[in-house]
Amino acid sequence: MKKEDGQADGGATPRGRVLVFSGPSGVGKGTLLKRLFAETDFPLVSSVSATTRAPRPGEVDGVDYRFLSREEFLRRREAGEFLESFEVYAGGALYGTLREDVEAALSRGDWVVLEIDVKGAASVAATYSDAETVFIEPPSIEALRERLKGRGSEGDAEIEKRVAQAETELAASGFYRWRVVNDDLDEAFKKIVAFLSEK
Ligand code: ADP
Ligand code: 5GP
Repeated sequence: MKKEDGQADGGATPRGRVLVFSGPSGVGKGTLLKRLFAETDFPLVSSVSATTRAPRPGEVDGVDYRFLSREEFLRRREAGEFLESFEVYAGGALYGTLREDVEAALSRGDWVVLEIDVKGAASVAATYSDAETVFIEPPSIEALRERLKGRGSEGDAEIEKRVAQAETELAASGFYRWRVVNDDLDEAFKKIVAFLSEK
């Protein structure tokens, strides 16, 4: 019970870190983060975002997302419960990070991983100036399209919407501290580990 010992001897548990990962849909964020959790000893925890979108087959409430009605989401937003919240795709669902989840993780000394869009990342970086921000880039737009097709979870129209969004996100991603091109998966993974090991 290391963490409890830390608190008992006068709050010695070091405060955790906020790690923000963004990048276009299909770039490989999920794949890279899965490896980060499985293959490193960093004290990582995922922040489970809230969303008003419907669950996809296999997604579990409270694990992949907290699936909320739009009414409930707006009520909680009004109550100030979100650290950040945005409509990621124009005219689409709302997504947001719950403030309390992040604060609880930080006070336990955990490194809390936020997989959020560029607008959300900018907002989090404004609140937590020491957040590590990592932007994952595709080797090319064509490679991104192929990955989205290969994943098979979206239809053609949805894929094109995500590709168009990718171009907007790339253009707005200048403020990230770290950038990684996910071409060779192993190389990209090693770079992320190196960045997070820096301090
Ligand atoms: P995201 O979480 O960013 O939407 P995923 O992790 O679901 O993306 O990856 C999208 C697809 O691309 C998946 O089918 C995944 O296996 C594949 N993929 C991820 N990284 C690479 C890579 N470096 N090279 C080729 N395919 C990749
Ligand atoms: P999806 O619907 O494919 O799960 O996610 C779509 C997009 O929403 C992804 O780019 C993801 O990074 C972003 N997203 C997921 N959760 C949040 C969140 O809590 N806040 C913000 N700003 N974006 C999020």
